[in-house]
Amino acid sequence: MELSRKVMQIQPSATLKISAQAKQMIADGVDVINLGIGEPDYQTPDNIKQAAIDSIQNGQASFYTPATGLPALKQAISQRIEADHGYHFDPSQIVVTDGAKMALFTLFQVILNPDDEVLLPVPYWVSYSEQVKLAGGVPVEVGTDRQLRFTVADLEAQRTPKTKALVLNSPQNPSGLVFSRAELTAIVNWAVQHYILIVADEIYEKLLYNGNHFTSVLELGEANMDHVILINGVSKAYSMTGWRIGYAAGPKAIMAKMGIVLGHAASNPAAVSQYAAIEAFSGDQCSVETMRQGFEQRLNELYPLIEALPGFKLPGGKPAGAFYLFPDVTETLRLTGYADAPSFVTAVLSEAHVGLVPGEAFGLPGHIRLSYATDMASLRTAYQRLKTFIDEKM
Ligand code: PLP
Repeated sequence: MELSRKVMQIQPSATLKISAQAKQMIADGVDVINLGIGEPDYQTPDNIKQAAIDSIQNGQASFYTPATGLPALKQAISQRIEADHGYHFDPSQIVVTDGAKMALFTLFQVILNPDDEVLLPVPYWVSYSEQVKLAGGVPVEVGTDRQLRFTVADLEAQRTPKTKALVLNSPQNPSGLVFSRAELTAIVNWAVQHYILIVADEIYEKLLYNGNHFTSVLELGEANMDHVILINGVSKAYSMTGWRIGYAAGPKAIMAKMGIVLGHAASNPAAVSQYAAIEAFSGDQCSVETMRQGFEQRLNELYPLIEALPGFKLPGGKPAGAFYLFPDVTETLRLTGYADAPSFVTAVLSEAHVGLVPGEAFGLPGHIRLSYATDMASLRTAYQRLKTFIDEKM
């Protein structure tokens, strides 16, 4: 049977694939440490769990909600954004989705016509390019320097009459890079000048370390806001990956169309998760800081070890945010005789029992991504296994 041409050009999510492989090995009794997955290891905070339990017990969670989310949740999101960034979205400008992933997916369906181009600075999160293709658009990679930063000149080099949107992910998955206010201002001014939509994926905004500061696109001034769609959610900040709540916020006309698409595609995100998310956004925020500190300790202990592995290079230095390291391992591949990062990663998983993701999944071969969103003891063991693996192959 012939399947759709759209679907035939889509690659499976490499992070989910490696994760599934690692999980299968664990199920088979192998002691695998999976650093391949972008998921906090912390439990969802108790106050959030309790809100969900209450919504089940009082019967509220039993029913459909409006397709774009409960009014109380939109209100909570609007207030959270205003408290954090001083910008007010009317609740009608907010669309709640099954995770930030679904917000992005629906957004691309709404804004892209066939062959419209979306700029993706390299490295980029694995799903952007595939979602753009599924919406009939064309992902266009934007080159970066060795520190993985890009400038307006890099963007300008890729701009065509078909350029519709630019994805700005800060703090960035996979590199942990955070744009400075000056960089962000220059990029946003350029996009606005050329009527290019800015898709600002700020899902890691709460995870900043060692005094580094995050600037949201929302803080750059009201004048840009006709061009900005904010993407965010509860997965990373509140350790709620399993609950599947994300959102998009932006121009009313775009949000209204997203609501129509979602109404047909999903009806609504799970009601119980929405009640939990109300508590996440409007309840006590202490647990966010506790988890952030935990990630910071892990980063500070793991970074010098990883940086010192034979051939590993992190030219951008210690990452400012998110919970990943993205070393250039070109030299390690040469020293150990592996042709590329995927074959290295496959061997590390099967022989050293450590799950990693090859840079190819982020548009940048010769790199690997490690997540440090796991406990320190496991990180130390994973490091030791990786070191032994490399030493033995050299
Ligand atoms: N955006 C980025 C950059 C991510 O890394 C992820 C998850 O890994 C998401 C969006 C999607 O998050 P979720 O769908 O769990 O809200």
